[in-house]
Amino acid sequence: MERRKFVKSVGLMTAAAYIAPKVLGNDKANVISSGIEGVPAPVFPALPFAYNALEPYIDARTMEIHYDKHHRAYYTNFMNAIKGTSLEGIAVSDIFATVSKQTDAIRNNGGGYYNHLFFWNNLGAGSHGPSSELTTALTKTFGSTDKFKESFNTAAKTRFGSGCAWLYLNSDKNLAIGSTPNQDNPLMDIASIKGTPLLTLDVWEHAYYLKYQNKRPDYIDAFWNVVNWEEVGKRYQKAVKG
Ligand code: MN
Repeated sequence: MERRKFVKSVGLMTAAAYIAPKVLGNDKANVISSGIEGVPAPVFPALPFAYNALEPYIDARTMEIHYDKHHRAYYTNFMNAIKGTSLEGIAVSDIFATVSKQTDAIRNNGGGYYNHLFFWNNLGAGSHGPSSELTTALTKTFGSTDKFKESFNTAAKTRFGSGCAWLYLNSDKNLAIGSTPNQDNPLMDIASIKGTPLLTLDVWEHAYYLKYQNKRPDYIDAFWNVVNWEEVGKRYQKAVKG
């Protein structure tokens, strides 16, 4: 609660007054994000940065609605969907592993809860580019970091309708790119791409329409300015070891 209040008050500051993600305790958020697959859905988590932190690439109004309306609704509906069932208190990754046997409400809202939390935590101001370890892996798989971005952009642009683009580690421990429809993700048994998620981009219209309207490619290009590579690097290290 204290953290929420803090984030909210920081949200009123101007973009110029915003210094760095660390100020908002991004380290703590990273811990939440990196371990979220293995734990039951806790309280609705705080956004790890101020609404205006990603300006001008992602505007404050979009962030506020996206987090406080869309993400919150997925969380609330997910909690309601599992209430009183055997899934209460089960790790979200375990729910996703058998999601084909669950209701649409659990699939859609559980996915929406997790995907947004995962997305927030791979965003941040002051993007510095991938670590040398991740750069080496990206280069080995895709030829270069730029070629990786091109392929990821294509996945994001060509996802018809609503969904997410993903960089993930597949079962052979190789990096791979793909996209999922609606609120599916690579942890779901029902998904056409499967593995450990490392980076995601939400390409639902609600993620960009206020600022970019129909120009999804412009939003995708802007996204690269606000990728939290530190977090992506941590996820990669953990996935490779796991
Ligand atoms: Mn969204």
